Amino acid sequence: MQKRELLYEGKAKKLYLTDDENLVISEFKDDLTAFNGEKKSSEAGKGALNNKISTELFKLLEASGIKTHFVKMLDDNHMLHKKVDVILIEVIVRNVATGSLSRNLGIKEGTILPFTLVEFDYKNDALGDPKLNDQHALILGLVKYQDELDKLRRMAREINDILHPYFATKGLNLIDFKLEFGKDRDGNIILVDEISPDNCRFWDSVSGEKMDKDRFRQGLGGLKVAYEEVLNRILGK
Ligand code: 5GP
Repeated sequence: MQKRELLYEGKAKKLYLTDDENLVISEFKDDLTAFNGEKKSSEAGKGALNNKISTELFKLLEASGIKTHFVKMLDDNHMLHKKVDVILIEVIVRNVATGSLSRNLGIKEGTILPFTLVEFDYKNDALGDPKLNDQHALILGLVKYQDELDKLRRMAREINDILHPYFATKGLNLIDFKLEFGKDRDGNIILVDEISPDNCRFWDSVSGEKMDKDRFRQGLGGLKVAYEEVLNRILGK
């Protein structure tokens, strides 16, 4: 499958049309951004690691009954996937308090939440991805019906119920993550985007070491080594 015209360039990926109107190709970039694009850098090989990690996780989720946009990994930096209408809601799933939850509500970093928290952010860089409640999402027309919001929450919890225990077997604590969803040509809501250390937080189960993009956000260094370690643990190496 060949890349055709560039359809869209985001912060971490470029999206290309293909000869098949139902399929597109994502190119995973080495660029790193944080704080809504204010902090920028690049790390050679980061894109390939995220492509490989996402590929393994999409395969795992598909095998567990979650519908995703994934078709196949084409090479180190390219993934073939279904073309969807992206729903402009970032679905955030949290098992442990950190990041904006701790900042905004004063919940102590590392507090295990009494139940898994699912939140919605408006996927809108110009506005800085603000928090959304259901009424906001409906008023903005991000989805048409309450049922669709309920489905996003249900799928997010199902995905967490698969990934959290899976990563525990790999010695990684899945702290929180961001999911995106879209509608395929039949109107089904499916999981899209990527699942990688760029949009998940992983803490080593024993040492508590951060193994994700917080290494870049917090200037800790060692980002590539951490991403490689996540991939190696997924592959059982
Ligand atoms: P927080 O709201 O604490 O900054 O992020 C919660 C989780 O969602 C983290 O795992 C973070 O990586 C992910 N996340 C939230 N917003 C974004 C975003 O705009 N881009 C990416 N890549 N991840 C995000």
